[in-house]
Amino acid sequence: MAQKGLGGTLFVISAPSGAGKSTLCRELLRKVSDVKLSVSYTTRKPRKGEINNVHYTFISQKKFKDMIGNGEFAEWAMVHGNLYGTSIKRLKKLCREGYDVLLDIDVQGARQIRNTFKDAVYIFILPPSMEILRKRLMKRKTDSKEAITLRLEKARDEISGYKEYDYVIINNKLDKAYRDFESIIRSTRLKTKNYKK
Ligand code: ADP
Ligand code: 5GP
Repeated sequence: MAQKGLGGTLFVISAPSGAGKSTLCRELLRKVSDVKLSVSYTTRKPRKGEINNVHYTFISQKKFKDMIGNGEFAEWAMVHGNLYGTSIKRLKKLCREGYDVLLDIDVQGARQIRNTFKDAVYIFILPPSMEILRKRLMKRKTDSKEAITLRLEKARDEISGYKEYDYVIINNKLDKAYRDFESIIRSTRLKTKNYKK
């Protein structure tokens, strides 16, 4: 008998932009086996260093709208003026292969997923304060001043949705936040319903 090695749980991770979601997910993917990130489609332009089909699949508005029309998204949303969506095909493939899947999506997307994936685990990452959030966005140097202002304006709205989630992690010290994050994944794997002979 063994603990279930391969997961198959959907983890929905949301946070205001700059809270450290990508940093925490990257670390988890590096350290924990059998976890994959679902690569979203977006109409946003790639940032420096972002690779097509690794960080996102970057597509035109026209292509995105065609995909909406064809019912190809499990969820999609307009975030900070750009469209983002999760492909049903990609999600199904990862689940079929038995992976635990990380969905890095916004609050609107998480609400849509909640209607269809009842067993998903919802995690919200909070910055220690708005001031620290602003500093992190500036430090990241990937967004223009205007984009940062837009992201900070949206942050208060997003943060107000945290109660809809199962878990909250405050990303103050990165190592502590990471340990909390990994604990959620590991304890979910230990659940009786995920136990396999
Ligand atoms: P998100 O994916 O939520 O938009 P990122 O993971 O890109 O955010 O993090 C935003 C910036 O803050 C990055 O420069 C990252 O290195 C930094 N960062 C993340 N977590 C912490 C932390 N706990 N302490 C200090 N800086 C952090
Ligand atoms: P960024 O442009 O900083 O990579 O992401 C901006 C926001 O879009 C983040 O809150 C991120 O979680 C969200 N996002 C990324 N991919 C998706 C997706 O497929 N669907 C939804 N709804 N939001 C997404």
